[in-house]
Amino acid sequence: MRVVRTIADLRDRLAGWRRSGERLGLVPTMGALHAGHMALVEAGRSDCARVVVTIFVNPTQFAPNEDLGSYPRRESAHLDMLGSTGVDLAFVPATAEMYPPQFSTLVRVGGLSEGLCGAHRLGHFDGVATVVSKLLIQALPDIAYFGEKDYQQLLIVRRLARDLDLPVQIKGVPTVREPDGLALSSRNAYLSSAERRIAPQFVRVLRSVAETLEREPAAVAREIEWGRRELTRAGFDVEYLEVRDAVDLAPVGAAGSRPCRVLAAAYLGRTRLIDNFPIMPASLT
Ligand code: AMP
Repeated sequence: MRVVRTIADLRDRLAGWRRSGERLGLVPTMGALHAGHMALVEAGRSDCARVVVTIFVNPTQFAPNEDLGSYPRRESAHLDMLGSTGVDLAFVPATAEMYPPQFSTLVRVGGLSEGLCGAHRLGHFDGVATVVSKLLIQALPDIAYFGEKDYQQLLIVRRLARDLDLPVQIKGVPTVREPDGLALSSRNAYLSSAERRIAPQFVRVLRSVAETLEREPAAVAREIEWGRRELTRAGFDVEYLEVRDAVDLAPVGAAGSRPCRVLAAAYLGRTRLIDNFPIMPASLT
């Protein structure tokens, strides 16, 4: 696996593959790789002749009070992991390569960015949308892969690619979980062993809300109230727990007539967990 650190080198390498008609898949990450990231790589390998992974801890998506400084960075271990999974190229730019002096452009996806995580992490999705736009324009992949674990992010990226006429397909990949259900996340490393034992309650509650609403679609308000109570009792500090339309994230009063999603963010100690589950009403299956 080759490692490139400049946009010029990235474009050089990709140009050859493009000339020989090879389909290119792109997997953007912030490093701290785990089996969730590897599922995106595998999806890329099954669709595309070449897979490029980017590793960039993007400062513009972290608010000043967030964990930019402590975010897990172990570059050589991450590169070894990628090398052994058949990735063709890793793009690992320095911050100055992505944001040269006087960088002043922001990509903002209105509407979709505003609720849920966007309401609690101010500016976060503008940072995500800006860096993802740059990565897509730099690499011009045929397909780019994003995890359903960050469901709001997936929809935002899909929308920006459409709005900016980027000739790329955005594919969502189902969430990879631990055997006890906890979604894999780089931030799980922050959990103490006591917190790690509590963490699966987060998934249990979300899954229960989703399953109940599939049977009783009108019970959204009751289930949200129940879920918040359960999570608080288990020791979580709930940031949000909401049921939204699965396509445009519009708030819904009932989950019966279209695909919906239950989405939540909560703190366990100092660790912020997010997760979501689909709600597919029986009438649509
Ligand atoms: P990150 O490095 O956390 O920015 O994540 C990079 C990509 O991996 C994003 O598209 C995430 O949604 C995706 N991802 C993170 N965790 C998981 C998971 N447990 N299952 C599937 N995809 C994931």
